[in-house]
Amino acid sequence: MLLAGVVLAGPGLYRQLPSIGEPGFVNFAAAILVLLGAVSGLMAHRQIRKSCDQVGASLLKAYQEGDESPLALNDRALNPLIQSVNQMMMSIRARMNELARKVRELEIQLKIVQLERDHAESILHSISDAVLVTDPWDELVLANESAARALGFDIPEEGRPPIDQILKDPKLIALIREMRASRSSGSRKVVEHSIQNNGQERTYKITLSCLTGDRQDASGVVAVLHDITREAEIARMKNDFVSHVSHELRTPLASIRAYIEMLIDGEATDAKQQAEFYEVIQNEANRLGRLIDNILDISRIESGIVKVNKQPLSLTVVIKEAIEIIIPQAIGKNITIQENIAPAIYQVLADKDMIHRAILNLMSNAVKYTPEGGRISVLTDVNEVEKRITVKISDTGVGIPPKDLPHVFDKFYRVEANNRMAKGTGLGLSLVKQIVETVHHGKVSVESVVGQGSTFSIELSLC
Ligand code: ADP
Repeated sequence: MLLAGVVLAGPGLYRQLPSIGEPGFVNFAAAILVLLGAVSGLMAHRQIRKSCDQVGASLLKAYQEGDESPLALNDRALNPLIQSVNQMMMSIRARMNELARKVRELEIQLKIVQLERDHAESILHSISDAVLVTDPWDELVLANESAARALGFDIPEEGRPPIDQILKDPKLIALIREMRASRSSGSRKVVEHSIQNNGQERTYKITLSCLTGDRQDASGVVAVLHDITREAEIARMKNDFVSHVSHELRTPLASIRAYIEMLIDGEATDAKQQAEFYEVIQNEANRLGRLIDNILDISRIESGIVKVNKQPLSLTVVIKEAIEIIIPQAIGKNITIQENIAPAIYQVLADKDMIHRAILNLMSNAVKYTPEGGRISVLTDVNEVEKRITVKISDTGVGIPPKDLPHVFDKFYRVEANNRMAKGTGLGLSLVKQIVETVHHGKVSVESVVGQGSTFSIELSLC
C-alpha cells in the first residue's frame, strides 16, 4: 500500500519533502529507509532492491554530508525505483487478473462439483437399497434414508461418527471392519444376513466393496444392503412345499405298494379279503390322483398359467348342482341339507368349473367334518348396494379350534384335532382360496366354534 502510494503520488509528492536540517527530515529519511528496506525485503525484486539500495545510499550520504538539496538527488535516485515499482505493480496487476480468472474458474468448477454431489446424493437417497459408506477409520461418511430406516438410526447432520456409535447390529459392524482391514482395493464380498430392527427381523443380501483412496493403504468401505426377506420367505415356502408334496405322495404310494406286496405274497387268504385289499388300493390311488390334481391346480393358479373362462353365471345354479352331487354322501351320514338361495337373476362373472369346484369342496368338508345326524345349511346373501353376493355354507360339525383358524387356508394344513374325522390332503381349502381370491378377486372367510360347527363364506362381486 505504501509502495502504491509512492507510485501514485509520484514526483509531485517528493517535492513537498523536508530538506536536511528541517525538523521532519530525520524522521522522514528513517521512514523512507524502513520503507525501502521493507519494500526491498518483501518484494524480493532484484531491480527494486537495487534501486532501493541506491536511493538509501544516496539519502544516507546526503544526510551524512549535510547536503543542502537531497531533493535534487531524489529525482535521480527515485526515478528508477518508481519505474521498477511501476513495472512490478503492472506484473502484480496482471497476476491478480490471472488469479481472479482462476478464482472464477475454480468457483465454476466448485459449483459443478456441488451440483454433481447434490445429484449423486439425490440418486443415493432415492435408492431403495440401504447404502453405507465408511472411511479408513471406520467412521460413517455417508448413509441414505433407506439405510437409516432399515437399520434404525438418524442420519448424522454433520461430522463422521464411528460406525459402532451409529449401527446396532454387531455382525454388520464386524463385516465392515473386516472388509476395511482386508485393504484389497476393488474386492467385493456378498453376505446374507438377518438384522433385527423395531422388533422385526429382515434378511439382507449385503454387498461390501473396498474403496482405495489416494494413498494405496487408505481404504474405506461401501456396504449395500438389499432386502431379500420376501425372496427368502418364498424360497422357504418352496422348500416346504416340495417336502410336503413328496411326503404326501409317499404315504398313499407306500400303502398301495404294501397292499400289492401282500396280494403277491398270497396274504389275502380268501376272496373277501382280496376285495378289501383291492378297495384300499383303489382308494389310495384315487387319493393320489386327487392330490396330484390339487397340487397342479394350485400351482397353475399361483403361477398364472391357468386358463380362466369367465362368463356371467348364476350362483344359484352352481350351488344346486353341487348339492345334487353331495346329497348321496350326506344321506350316508344321515345329514340334512337346508338351502336358502337367492333367485337366479343375481349373476357373477366367473369361471363355472372353478366356482363349482370351490363350492363343492366346502360342502364336501361340511359333510366330512359333521358327525352323523347333523345339519348343513347353504344360503346366499345379496347386498345390492355394494353389488356383492355371499355364499355361506354352515354345518353343525366338530368345529375348528381358534389357534388353527388362521391357518386352515394354508397349503397342506390339517387340523390335528379333526384328523380322525376324515382323511384329507390339506389342499382343499387352499384351492378354494386360490379360486376365489386369486382368480375371481373375491374373499373367503371362516367362523367356527369347537363342538358347535363352522361357517365358510365366499364373497363375490355381482355383475
Ligand atoms: P382336507 O383335505 O384335510 O380336508 P382342507 O384344506 O379341505 O383339507 O381342510 C383343511 C383342514 O381344515 C381340514 O383338515 C380340517 O381339519 C379343517 N376343516 C375344513 N373344513 C372343516 C369343517 N367344515 N369343519 C371342521 N373342520 C374343517
